[in-house]
Amino acid sequence: MSYCVNCGVELDRSEKACPLCGVEVLNPRQPYDDQAPRPYPKRLDPIYARINRRFTAAVLSIILAFPGVFCLAINFILDGVLTWSLYVAGALALVWVFLVPYFLYSKPTVIKIFLPGVPAISLYLLLIAKLQGNDSWFLTLAMPMVIVTCGLIFLNIVLINAGKISGFAIPAAILVSAGLLTTGIELIINFDLTGRLQLGWSLFVLIPTVAIAAFFLAAARRQSIREEIRKRLHL
Ligand SMILES: [Zn+2]
Repeated sequence: MSYCVNCGVELDRSEKACPLCGVEVLNPRQPYDDQAPRPYPKRLDPIYARINRRFTAAVLSIILAFPGVFCLAINFILDGVLTWSLYVAGALALVWVFLVPYFLYSKPTVIKIFLPGVPAISLYLLLIAKLQGNDSWFLTLAMPMVIVTCGLIFLNIVLINAGKISGFAIPAAILVSAGLLTTGIELIINFDLTGRLQLGWSLFVLIPTVAIAAFFLAAARRQSIREEIRKRLHL
């Protein structure tokens, strides 16, 4: 039997390093044996955590599927075709796409959750267009708006995750994005109506958002200068 040279804990033959303090076990009389039975299961907690996450995913799936299937069944029994229930089922499927993968990934990231949502939103809009029997707005209005909105959200997520934007720059970036989104939506609508890329009312949104963002950036800069002075003067 070995004892840890650092903390004195009793060590099993299967231990390569002390389980308490991590100091390597060196006992020439009883070398490390990787075949020896381990005194405790090392991977128990992650497995339990994963089972819990899968269980939550399964429960959420059932909760979301039940009203969907119920509506589809009622709609089909009453009308013989699927009409209004497809809106409900589609919306529930959309919620599923955004909610459940969070519990299925062992390491969920915003990008992993967000990216599959983009085609899901597009498909739901296409479903609405097909159900209405008029899908002319889908390619000219809906898709450009989805691309602009998701592109701006994605850009913000990537820049914040990479640490390129932090502190006061985050509200500034979100404000500028909101302004750009409004401008983008106006351009898309005007192009659909007149065939020309015209800007009008959205400038009344863009200009204030850029001004407020500039104020945030100035505040952030002033704060960092103040902190720098405080540090140098040891205040
Ligand atoms: Zn130790």
